[in-house]
Amino acid sequence: MVDVSRIALAAEQSVEGSFARLGRYLAFAPISSDPEAKPRLAALAETLRADLTTLGMSRARVLELPDAHPCVAAEWMGAGPSAPTVLIYGHFDVQPVKGETWTTEPHALVRKGDRLFGRGSADDMGGWLSHFIAMEAWLRETGSLPCNIKILLEGEEEIGSPNLERFMDAHPDAFDSDAMVLTDCENPSVDIPGLTVSLRGLLEVEVSITSAQSDVHSGLWGNIVPDPAMALITQLARLVDADGRLKLARRDVDPAWLVTSRDVPLTSAVIRSGARLLEGVDPLPDRGLTPAAWVARQPAVTVLSTTFPAPGTEKNAIRKSVSAKLSLRIAPGQTSEELFEAVAAELRRDVPAGLSVTLTTLPGAASSWDYVAEGPAFDAADRAYVAAWGRPPLRIGLGGSIPFVALFGKRFARLPLVLNGVIDPETGAHGPDESMHIGVYTKTVKANVHLYAELATALKK
Ligand SMILES: [Zn+2]
Repeated sequence: MVDVSRIALAAEQSVEGSFARLGRYLAFAPISSDPEAKPRLAALAETLRADLTTLGMSRARVLELPDAHPCVAAEWMGAGPSAPTVLIYGHFDVQPVKGETWTTEPHALVRKGDRLFGRGSADDMGGWLSHFIAMEAWLRETGSLPCNIKILLEGEEEIGSPNLERFMDAHPDAFDSDAMVLTDCENPSVDIPGLTVSLRGLLEVEVSITSAQSDVHSGLWGNIVPDPAMALITQLARLVDADGRLKLARRDVDPAWLVTSRDVPLTSAVIRSGARLLEGVDPLPDRGLTPAAWVARQPAVTVLSTTFPAPGTEKNAIRKSVSAKLSLRIAPGQTSEELFEAVAAELRRDVPAGLSVTLTTLPGAASSWDYVAEGPAFDAADRAYVAAWGRPPLRIGLGGSIPFVALFGKRFARLPLVLNGVIDPETGAHGPDESMHIGVYTKTVKANVHLYAELATALKK
């Protein structure tokens, strides 16, 4: 009988040594949205392929498709056909840093206190590296893994996984498995692990108002003809309540869910610090829900951009047209059509002076996802987290939209999908000074060691 705790301890002892590797990976600056970074993504994919081979995985390979950043795949199938095969998904691309003010060099790993700073440290390099370390410990200590494992690392998650389904079609074998661990999600705090069970979807729309064939003098025509800019502001303001939250298409939050969500430590202090609020700025009032419910279970609206005249283009004129791009977050269980119709009806209602509001939906929509994390694989995950973190993971919803999750949910609905990760509220993913908490990373490495053993038992064929 293998002593899993001993392997977890061995993995824990490798954590310090893995920081240099993390630094090496994030120094590639693999920004998938930057066309100039294409060779760097390719080079990182090749490095990961080589490292997975060194780690002891077989069939480590770079998967390529035209007009796509590559994926990296590898497997270890030595546990035999009666053992389950677990797919581990992560992504090796990162968000851009342009326009952000970092206090450290973004593409170098910098350790400060109990955190490791660098773009990609937690989103998502630390996520999959935590599995590399766990697998390495198993192979070094016992010469094998308790279950079969496939690794699939994507290079386009940060641009919305536009080709992931094509990779699934072209390489079904790389995805074929009995359970999936999707490691790109977050923990409610550095002491409370999270298991993500819902995501909001995303829909972007452009709203425009046009009044005339040309701009006209604001002194001569102001107060006589309508101003599209003011009309747009008025119509947009109708979407939100006095707190500035979207007031349409709200959902009933399940009372049991609401009770659990009180365990999510989204206190005022955590919100202030996590969202980098200035002194004197308050989080929005709860209004009978919880911050977790507002962010995970309700739809929301944000202005992404507008064509209001920019500084430097001032002139005393009523502009003939104006538009805004909005991002709508779709609540779990809500369809994009349902939310769009509610928003469109409000924007088109009572527009002054015969103006009409034109709405166009933009590409790149993502469905919401609502999941029930029950069954042997989730009991296994609970046990693994109790062993490593001292408590089972809290079932949480994410306010963000992760297109790959909705895609996995659609393609592999019958499989258990375990969504975990190394992000915590202080991580600052997609912003300046992204960082990973060393304690979270260490406990996740240990949880992974246990997870393979627990899944092997729970899903044995
Ligand atoms: Zn990510």
